[in-house]
Amino acid sequence: MDDRGYHNGFGGAFLPEILVATFDQLDAVFRQARNDPEFWQTYENIMASYSCRPTPLTFAENLTRHFGGARIYIKREDLNHTGAHKANNVMGQGLLVRRMGKTRVIAETGAGQHGVATATMAARFGFRCTIYMGEVDVHRQRPNVFWMQRLGADVVPVRDGTRILKDAINEAFRDWVSNMDTTHYVLGTACGPHPFPEMVTYFQSIIGKEARQQVMRAENRLPDRVYACVGGGSNAMGIFSGFADEATELVGVEAAGRGLDSGQHASRLCAADASVGVAQGYKTFFLQDQDGQMKETHSIAAGLDYVGVSPILAGFKETGKARFEAVTDDEVVEAASLTIRKEGLIPALESAHAFAQAFKEAPALSRDAIILINQSGRGDKDIFTIADAFDDPGWKEFIIEKAGQYGRERSPAS
Ligand SMILES: *Cc1c(COP(=O)(O)O)cnc(C)c1O
Repeated sequence: MDDRGYHNGFGGAFLPEILVATFDQLDAVFRQARNDPEFWQTYENIMASYSCRPTPLTFAENLTRHFGGARIYIKREDLNHTGAHKANNVMGQGLLVRRMGKTRVIAETGAGQHGVATATMAARFGFRCTIYMGEVDVHRQRPNVFWMQRLGADVVPVRDGTRILKDAINEAFRDWVSNMDTTHYVLGTACGPHPFPEMVTYFQSIIGKEARQQVMRAENRLPDRVYACVGGGSNAMGIFSGFADEATELVGVEAAGRGLDSGQHASRLCAADASVGVAQGYKTFFLQDQDGQMKETHSIAAGLDYVGVSPILAGFKETGKARFEAVTDDEVVEAASLTIRKEGLIPALESAHAFAQAFKEAPALSRDAIILINQSGRGDKDIFTIADAFDDPGWKEFIIEKAGQYGRERSPAS
């Protein structure tokens, strides 16, 4: 990376003049914190006492036997507080907010998971909190809205445009411009203008640091391949950073939805219809049409359903530092079911993308090969989607009734 936050030509900070000073301040405080060994220690301590870190590494004995190939290990980010790796990022940013002396945080959320994580952090640190959410998403994600409000956040439904995530992002930026002195914008993934991609990666690197030591302890060598799902790219960057200088092959797995050529997917790094552009303050691969209008994306996992992708991963694609694949909704449901049945683990549908790709490759690897899969979150939230996919008439009736009560059309994430 260079000083202006470019990663092999991707990234940067395309900002309105009024926000430049705020980003400079954030960058300076982040750099100072990163050079202060006590800061990382404080961060590790808070994650240990508040969010179950270090999260365990689980040897998937039954899946390994089932496929008859590589030895399969699973990094258990599902055991974090609020159920996913998102806690690593929000708690880290919370410490920076304190260091900057700010008292209020804002965030935008689509499926609600990042909103809940941010509201949780705000409650813990005693910050005021506002969450912007498209009005459509507010109706789809009633349980998450309920928890954000109970946690003390002000949830603002955004009625502009198509009333979904991208409209909420615009509204959050508008708020930030008017309240820069007191307020920090907690970005949810390794995207956005510099220094966010680098900063979010820094906090998520705790996953890779731990996983590296844990695999070494278990096997006395590093894994051959590491698999992670890619929405914005933060859990992938987190686990990859433990192995970035090694011979370990890094595999990022995107959502192929109903197929890469169906027009209903969320793949920016594998699909032919994604292209490089500048939007939301940074340069990367976006799902956009020829006029630069963002396209509708689709994934069975709401947390992967995003138009942009981490500029750092876009750089990895260009240099070949990581390999990118995409798996379909059907393959994901099958991989989740198998993991539940064989190991008693319930991966989030986002995470199940990484499992599905690993399962395709494991049988062809030798029995002493080692692979590591990042289970970015837990799948309890996906009950409606998974049950629906199984088409069990008894459950389906109950689920549709419940889904109707919640007014949601898909499960929460992101
Ligand atoms: C939000 C989320 C993701 C996608 O975000 P990344 O920034 O790509 O990691 C993946 N898995 C789970 C469980 C999530 O909640």
